[in-house]
Amino acid sequence: MKRVRIVGGGLTGILAAFQAHRLGARQIDLYERLDRLGGVALPELHDGKEMREGCIYFGPKGDPIRSLLETHGARFEEFDNRFGSVGPSPSGPVNIDDFGGPALAAGTTDLTQPSGDSLADRLSCYSASLAAPLARYVKWHVGCDPAELHANAAVPLAINRIFPTGVSIDALAEQKKTDPLANELFGIPRSLWNYSSNVQASLPVGGFAALFQQCRTALETIGVRIHERSLATPKRMLSAETSGDIIIWAASPMPLFKAVGVDTPAAPAKKFATYTFAAEWAGPVPFYVQNFTAEGSCFRVYIYESQGTVLLTAECVAETSQSDLTRDIHQMLEGFEGKLALGDVVFRTIKPRWLYHSVDTIDRLGELRTALKARRGDSFVTGAWEAYAKGEKFAEVEADLNKAFQMPELAKAS
Ligand SMILES: Cc1cc2nc3c(=O)[nH]c(=O)nc-3n(C[C@H](O)[C@H](O)[C@H](O)COP(=O)(O)OP(=O)(O)OC[C@H]3O[C@@H](n4cnc5c(N)ncnc54)[C@H](O)[C@@H]3O)c2cc1C
Repeated sequence: MKRVRIVGGGLTGILAAFQAHRLGARQIDLYERLDRLGGVALPELHDGKEMREGCIYFGPKGDPIRSLLETHGARFEEFDNRFGSVGPSPSGPVNIDDFGGPALAAGTTDLTQPSGDSLADRLSCYSASLAAPLARYVKWHVGCDPAELHANAAVPLAINRIFPTGVSIDALAEQKKTDPLANELFGIPRSLWNYSSNVQASLPVGGFAALFQQCRTALETIGVRIHERSLATPKRMLSAETSGDIIIWAASPMPLFKAVGVDTPAAPAKKFATYTFAAEWAGPVPFYVQNFTAEGSCFRVYIYESQGTVLLTAECVAETSQSDLTRDIHQMLEGFEGKLALGDVVFRTIKPRWLYHSVDTIDRLGELRTALKARRGDSFVTGAWEAYAKGEKFAEVEADLNKAFQMPELAKAS
């Protein structure tokens, strides 16, 4: 069986290592440029508590990623998955429970087919009364016109499904059943149509730091060689030395472009500020609220518990003052079940997020894949660089990895 080299020790790289082992690989090297595994899902610790920069969850029992991690000793605990959103309306912000996307007043649920791949094309499927506030929200959130982004940026922007208010729920449910485009573009709060698949979700017992510590132990137990502080370069991963190996590039693909002669797409310059507060919250925990009003600076509030302490993370489109942010947070939570007392800011960070791809980026990633395939065939596993959600990312890596293991030359070698 051939050697497998995995670039990136985030969730995708770790899962790829477990999957490669499941497929029979016994020589597996995992390269991580930092001194720890976990990537973006590993929060920084402050006084032993996790400063989470977003609300990353796992599915309920049976979720494929969770199951693979459980096979290797990880433990998860279920919780009631509670969330809501605040949307704009002529009479001021409106709250909605059990729906993480925007709820917007709609005169009609008529849709037109998309005429291109951009987010603007996706938004123009909706009637103007829905498209206009969504475009305003995108500009406020990412700082650019929806025409500059690929349609799949709708997922990290949480506008992949819109709840059109003021229409018949029965008619909307029927439209979703019969029209695939309506099913993709519209959502209904789960309590209004007995949708139950996301009622429960799970988090790792002891938090993400404990999960990644457990993953490290499990990887070492099955013989994976973990190389930390080890930046993998395209030069080495595409060299004669590694030409007989399976390479899984589960990290940013940016350095690969130049190496294979494809123009590097411009990286987005947008940075986001995140503030974590000590908090007291008489309401459900964990709980998050998305803000689609395009007002203030906070686009998501997430209340969670770490080591017995309740914390509140506010993700913001820009840096802001503590007094403005405190006001925004209270406004966002007003009307939801719970009462908030905010303490001090215990952590803050400002960082870019590589999530909002342009149409050009998506096109170039396609060219990059083609160039890598021409050089290395199925033995260079690229995975889902375009995807945002961990489930989708891993499903693509898993499919590509299965293909790599079925290659005739590998079958002979094993
Ligand atoms: C704020 C936020 C909220 C999210 N919420 C959700 C959610 O609710 N649900 C969901 O499904 N997904 C969510 N996601 C996405 C999910 O967290 C990610 O899809 C997943 O954790 C990404 O894992 P990854 O391994 O692909 O990438 P990363 O976590 O980015 O890992 C890549 C790793 O590769 C390393 N690396 C980079 N270059 C090199 C190199 N050349 N050599 C060696 N190492 C290298 C990096 O240091 C890093 O550790 C969220 C993401 C963010 C940022």
